[in-house]
Amino acid sequence: MTWVQSWGGIKIKIGIPRALLYYWYGPLWRVFFEELGLTPVVSGPTGKDLLNTGVKASVDEACLPVKVFIGHCLSLSNRCDFLLAPRLVSINRKDYICPKFMGLPEMVKQAVGKQPLFIWKSEKNCAIGSPQALPAALRQGYSTRRIKKGLQKAEAAFRTYHRLLQKGFFPAEAEAVLFGGVPPAREDTGRRIGLIGHPYCLYDPYINLGTIGLLQRYGFKVLAPEYIPPRQIEEELQILAKPMFWTLSQRIFGTFRLLCKQKVEGIIYLSAFACGPEALIGELVKREAKALGLPLLHLVLDEHSGEAGMVTRIEAFIDLLQRKRRLSCV
Ligand code: SF4
Repeated sequence: MTWVQSWGGIKIKIGIPRALLYYWYGPLWRVFFEELGLTPVVSGPTGKDLLNTGVKASVDEACLPVKVFIGHCLSLSNRCDFLLAPRLVSINRKDYICPKFMGLPEMVKQAVGKQPLFIWKSEKNCAIGSPQALPAALRQGYSTRRIKKGLQKAEAAFRTYHRLLQKGFFPAEAEAVLFGGVPPAREDTGRRIGLIGHPYCLYDPYINLGTIGLLQRYGFKVLAPEYIPPRQIEEELQILAKPMFWTLSQRIFGTFRLLCKQKVEGIIYLSAFACGPEALIGELVKREAKALGLPLLHLVLDEHSGEAGMVTRIEAFIDLLQRKRRLSCV
């Protein structure tokens, strides 16, 4: 199969799963494919059927977010010509990302069978924005100039998107604003709560059962890792005796420390069932919160999480924060 701009006037469709690091790189991927004259097709929101399909097609040992990703791939497989399956080994010059991201294309291949994959890499010597990160077949199908121009536009969109996240927009809002939508209006009640975890646990309202919406209905401004510029996170990590290995864990721990300094009322930590790196980072966060006397609610998400149980625990935590607030005013 050769890369051309169109087959008989029909544009090539690239399926982009709305899962895992879509919440960071989604706009970059969308803009790049559009610049090349391809049609990006983003999967819809996660739902019950999609999750069940992903769970059935995955190995039992996979964590919940990987199962969700597989579900999104399967939901796209009849609607696109190629399916984007990123192979992310290192997304930050100095460190690595969880090994499940390295083996993602193989897991996807196992689930989708003959569907051709578009493997976009990010490794130590091959950043996500470099031409070498793209499949060789694509690089042969387009001129280097065209690819570089597409990547430049994609990186510019990526930077704008992350600036919007740092201004306090959530990924779906920032993406809508980036592509011409109207920014949502928000009221500031002065109450602040921290929400930490991997982006795919925080911003997929199906797997976290609408945690952000619930906290907002209680009048909280929700502060999450994506608000914080990477430089500030790096500064917070200096207190560690040994550098932390995983990029996403660094962001969770650095954000946790910054939120403690910003005097949030409490912190909710959403982690995924069967997540290896979180076994370590979760313990570190719990110990620090205990030492600082900061209220922390740690919730583990899995495919069996029920809305009632989750909402009850969050509401009980909010009650506790309200009581603490009342007592400190007396
Ligand atoms: S960091 Fe944890 S949740 Fe994320 S892909 Fe790896 S194992 Fe899964």
